[in-house]
Amino acid sequence: MTERAYFDWNATAPLRAEARVAALAVMALTGNASSVHAEGRAARQTIEQARAQVAALAGAEPRNVTFTSGATEANMLALTPALEAGGRKEPRDRLFVSAVEHPSVRCGGRFAADAVETLPVDANGIVDLAALQAALARAERPLVSVMLANNETGAIQPIAAIAGIVHAANGLLHVDAVQGAGRIDCDIGALGADLISLSSHKIGGPQGAGALVRRDGIHISEPLIRGGGQERNLRAGTENVAAIAGFGAAAETARLARQADAARMAALRDRFEAALKVQTPAAVIFAADVVRLPNTSLFAVPGLKAETAIISFDLNGIAVSSGAACSSGKVQISSVLTAMGVSADLARGAVRVSLGPDTTEADIDLLLSAWMRVVSSLLKSHANAA
Ligand code: PMP
Repeated sequence: MTERAYFDWNATAPLRAEARVAALAVMALTGNASSVHAEGRAARQTIEQARAQVAALAGAEPRNVTFTSGATEANMLALTPALEAGGRKEPRDRLFVSAVEHPSVRCGGRFAADAVETLPVDANGIVDLAALQAALARAERPLVSVMLANNETGAIQPIAAIAGIVHAANGLLHVDAVQGAGRIDCDIGALGADLISLSSHKIGGPQGAGALVRRDGIHISEPLIRGGGQERNLRAGTENVAAIAGFGAAAETARLARQADAARMAALRDRFEAALKVQTPAAVIFAADVVRLPNTSLFAVPGLKAETAIISFDLNGIAVSSGAACSSGKVQISSVLTAMGVSADLARGAVRVSLGPDTTEADIDLLLSAWMRVVSSLLKSHANAA
């Protein structure tokens, strides 16, 4: 069997050892966190410990962390007119989302379709601040949702500047911090955000857990799932205690290891991109002019199709993706690249390589030697067909 290397951490990260231990320990126990007996109290304690760990990653108070099934659900919970700030019950009248948001944000959450507007981005996928300012004049109490870092390109948005503009316009800011967590700082106060979404499986926790984190003073008056009183009436349903415990452990490890992990990943990613440019001078690296996550590289080579490249990489032992994993079952042109003004032809060839804390120099060697084989065979067959 070919040696394999995993370069799809932005789709899902391998489970961290700490998360595995925490989740398995819970699976050996019994107890509903709502029960008053000792077993129930132990489950409750596990959830509260994880809440503190996730809160620490986001620089928030544990009471402001709501566990969900993932970031898709956290985004749905956040994007509602029913937000209260500082005790004022003034429903949000319009939602503005950037053109490069994840589909779970672009769909507009719980706003009526005609109350949702898309904000344009520049050629690097960065929100146009002048357009944001102009758009906010069309609302009285806007809610704005801009991601911390893009899942396809890794481009990092100027969240603090965006927060300044949004707050000056009587607005609230939600930040999908899913791809930033564990890679760059995602302290809610430092970002200036009112709400942030996190996902367990992107930071090495189990799939099936996520969180919406609020700053103090922000309340949501309309639960997404009604029923029992779990998660302070914001999210009914018996908690996924094992996944939540793993999420907490992953959040703690990600927080403690972030700076060292980021430096290591950036060096490996930069080595890959430098070699890519030498081997394939025609390669275009997207969002290369702006600050990006340390672990992400999205590139294309004219004449090369992403779907064939990904299959070819896979046969060579390398797991990569074409932009968003959610759409890579059927490879569509990335809406992120379209919003950045990239031609459909070039966008069709976009391949995403995303690294993680466990990625090694040897993995990069495997990636580069696979790339040599992939690119020469695909460009040759393309030339023969032409
Ligand atoms: N936002 C971003 C930026 C993402 O990359 C993803 C996962 N692809 C999500 C939200 C959704 O997260 P989850 O899988 O936890 O629902």
